[in-house]
Amino acid sequence: MQTRGAARTLRPHRLATDVRPTNVAVHIEVDPQKRDDFVGEVTIELVLDAPRRMIELHADDLKVEGAQVEVGGRNLHGRITKHPAFETIRIQLSERLPAGRATVRLGFSGKLRPDLRGLYASRSGRRRYAFTQLEATDARRFFPCFDEPTMKARFTMSVTTSQRNTVLSNAPIARTKKLSRGRKQVTFRPTPPLATYLVALAVGELEASKTLKLGQTPIRIWHVPGKRPLTGFALECAHETLRRLEAYFDLPYPYEKLDLVAVPDFEAGAMENAGAVFFRETLLLVDPKTVTLAEKKRVAEVVCHELAHMWYGDLVTMAWWDDLWLNEAFATWMAFSIVDDWKPEWKMWLDFQHYRGAALNLDALAHTHPIYMPVRTPDEATENFDLITYEKGASVVRMVENWLGAAAFRRGVRRYVRAHAEGNTVAADLWTALSRAAKQEVEPVVRAWIEQPGFPVLSLRHSRERGKSVLNASQERFVAGARGPRRDRPRWPIPWVGRIGGARKGQSKLERRVLTGARSRITLGSNAPRFVHGNAEASGFYRTHHDAAMLRDLAAELRSLSAVERLCLASDQWALARAGRAPIEDFLELASVFGEELEPDVLVALRGAFAFANDQLAANADDATRNAWRGFLVERFGEHLLELGWRPADGEDEPTRVRRAVAISLLGDVAGWEAVTEVVGEKCAAYLDDRGTLDPNLADPVVSLAARAGDARLYARFEKAFQRAATPQERRRFLFALGDFHDPKLLARTRKACLESIPVQDMPFLLVRMLHNPAAREETWTFLQKRWRRLSRRFPPALVTRVIDTLPELQTTRHRREVSAFFRQNPVPTGRRAVQQAL
Ligand SMILES: [Zn+2]
Repeated sequence: MQTRGAARTLRPHRLATDVRPTNVAVHIEVDPQKRDDFVGEVTIELVLDAPRRMIELHADDLKVEGAQVEVGGRNLHGRITKHPAFETIRIQLSERLPAGRATVRLGFSGKLRPDLRGLYASRSGRRRYAFTQLEATDARRFFPCFDEPTMKARFTMSVTTSQRNTVLSNAPIARTKKLSRGRKQVTFRPTPPLATYLVALAVGELEASKTLKLGQTPIRIWHVPGKRPLTGFALECAHETLRRLEAYFDLPYPYEKLDLVAVPDFEAGAMENAGAVFFRETLLLVDPKTVTLAEKKRVAEVVCHELAHMWYGDLVTMAWWDDLWLNEAFATWMAFSIVDDWKPEWKMWLDFQHYRGAALNLDALAHTHPIYMPVRTPDEATENFDLITYEKGASVVRMVENWLGAAAFRRGVRRYVRAHAEGNTVAADLWTALSRAAKQEVEPVVRAWIEQPGFPVLSLRHSRERGKSVLNASQERFVAGARGPRRDRPRWPIPWVGRIGGARKGQSKLERRVLTGARSRITLGSNAPRFVHGNAEASGFYRTHHDAAMLRDLAAELRSLSAVERLCLASDQWALARAGRAPIEDFLELASVFGEELEPDVLVALRGAFAFANDQLAANADDATRNAWRGFLVERFGEHLLELGWRPADGEDEPTRVRRAVAISLLGDVAGWEAVTEVVGEKCAAYLDDRGTLDPNLADPVVSLAARAGDARLYARFEKAFQRAATPQERRRFLFALGDFHDPKLLARTRKACLESIPVQDMPFLLVRMLHNPAAREETWTFLQKRWRRLSRRFPPALVTRVIDTLPELQTTRHRREVSAFFRQNPVPTGRRAVQQAL
């Protein structure tokens, strides 16, 4: 899945392991256009390891009745008792069932949910739909089931609905039968063994793209009517990445067909239902004429992430939610790796650095958690869908791959997937497979990274000893701020790779060691290196603190580093400044030599640091200081815009177009440079009249900057543009820009709309946007407190944490007290850790 987490509080409770489902047939009668309820029956074939008189399974928010158990040709009536605290029902029988096979039949009914979970109602214009979203523990709100990841079974779905509806599920359709009153019954083929959270159903008026085949697998994109012209790119992504995934695993795609479905209302980014992957429209449907490079990369990455899950997660499933990272860290790493192979010119590992940086920032907090996290309740399972599980996990996977070598690592992954196909695994299964493939013990190095919270800062000091160059390395946990847990002194075995500058300019080589102790000595040789970068290709998940002389050498040799290393160097130096480990002057001196940087992603990282300094420091400084700061930014980075202008030259490449966009954002948004701020209004007006007047990559910064100085007329134009948008990306752009205005009356309108007309999937993100906006921040916080009760009813559970994550934008100790007091009085079950982190 692509998401962040949240849901309900439950006491620890697991189903008995001696009752297991093997085959499950679910029949649903649903017609979302006509009714908001559904009825169904489920038939579950079971294996009992021991005799029992009671069978417990999950069901919640469903009416369940008519329990029948068939055993040895006899039918027994069961009495159903409900156990809402465990989200289960128990079927009590008057006699003991013998060990062996039995079949349970249950009738059930429920309402299409409003909260984007379970089987939920969704709309697009006048059309109404029913879709599922079942991860982590919402299958139990769709039908009675054994809702734990080890309880894999073959599912046979069938649906009775109106003839005009399309019905999609995990498997291909076996048969369709016409019924009276314009209805039909669609029956699907049985699936291979699946965990319940991967079951999928879509019902409503949908259209499909053309079908592209990879081997025997038909691939299609599904969407609400009229969007076919937007499906080409996603289809190409699916085809190209699936082909590469099959080659990587050396194992064909495990399901009979592949449907990718663009869902009009969706809580997560996307969900890897086996054979029927669901996406937000923005992450699947694009118009090649207006899409930005960043949007295209994101679609490719998300499509590939979900398809990687078909092996990693669907075919081989973690045994329990504590090893969620086995799914998500791998899918995240694999998506960047595969898309990089498909489109090397996109430099995906540079993009990845922004996610890695966010994970490092979160993991520097006292209230972080280890990648492997014990999970007792659904809430705790849901909380784990975060940057640590995904992006830190992916960084650690990348570090291990780099350490073992790509070929040995791939052999290990293939061995692991083959050995556990259709089964469940724990981390040790992966270590065993990798160790055998690489012929060395993996676990002693990897465990600390998976089981300890946080990460080290590696301090490097260069010295000359008896004619040799020596690096004295020391490590300790990197903690943001002074309040960290300093009592324990954790260590990490660091698979270290350094880039060592050679005798001549531009020449360098890599040095590798595993650094295990608190202190290590790395002897380099008799020649003094021109420079040393302590994290080659940023493959290690740690911060590097180079000594002052090493930092000066690096600043003088920036061109000899790769773009990923330059980005890593700037980000590390900024993180050291923020944590009070290095003076901010060191960062600013380093940043000033980045004026000629051409790689947009490196500029994006600098822009992030500058924006923070601008918002949190410069905003509170006197006019002279603020002007000096902004003058520094214009002097160092203004040249980009002067050189490139606003219009792309004929045949200009995409990185240059993206660099222009970053420069405009940095100079307009952070530096407040008149050369940008005085013309964006005009550029935006022209763009509203004719989308062809602006390079697509500039649309986001121009629309957002224009909103700041925008009046009610511009606001109305944005509203109209959002309602009539031709693509999901354009819709998103104008909708979220409603949070960027500075006029208090217009911001009040945006907040009011959050209570009413803004779709549930977008509303939390618009609030996030207003918390980032200095002109809206204070009022938005007041609004959140006053309207929490009403907003809570609209927040999809997994998105409420996005808002909590943004509260650190509030700056004073008064705010800290208010946030703390507010969430003590209004606890969010799945936001517990997020609140601690925000504070
Ligand atoms: Zn995922």
